[in-house]
Amino acid sequence: MTLLPITLYGDAILKKKAKKVHKVDDKLMTLIKNMFDTMHNANGMGLAANQVGSDKSVFIVDISSVKGHEKEKPRVFLNPVIVEESEEKIPFEEGCLSIPELRAEVVRPKGIKLIYQDLDLKERELTDDELLARVIQHEYDHLNGVFFVERIETDELKKLKKSLKKIQDRKIDIDYPVAPKAK
Ligand code: ZN
Repeated sequence: MTLLPITLYGDAILKKKAKKVHKVDDKLMTLIKNMFDTMHNANGMGLAANQVGSDKSVFIVDISSVKGHEKEKPRVFLNPVIVEESEEKIPFEEGCLSIPELRAEVVRPKGIKLIYQDLDLKERELTDDELLARVIQHEYDHLNGVFFVERIETDELKKLKKSLKKIQDRKIDIDYPVAPKAK
């Protein structure tokens, strides 16, 4: 098992737009395997490549630990694009491995349609309007350099400023490996 250090709020790579994957080689397969180890170790449901310091357009999702979703398989998404969003929006409490211990309610479209490529670079389509749709939207945001806390009300965000600064300065106890503070 290889645990990669997770980048935290404030790290430059988390504000960058991910780069398209053109080939699936051993290096990428190792990255994805290590991402699963890292995510499972930290009890996460999703992880984007820039959360472990890679600029590739890749995220993984595994919601099988959640009641009612036990049969869900771990999923890998390459070069994802959300092509449709439902008009209906719903609030849901989110957390993030790059923003430890902080949770906030985020309003997002309930359902989405996603186009992505699988590990054979074959184009796939996924439609969902439950938990999977929520996790995908959160991870998709990461690949575009967006944090869930940037989608909450300004007043709410203000209340979180102190906690976010602490995370940025590593003044918190985290029970999984994290990347050193960016200079
Ligand atoms: Zn996140």
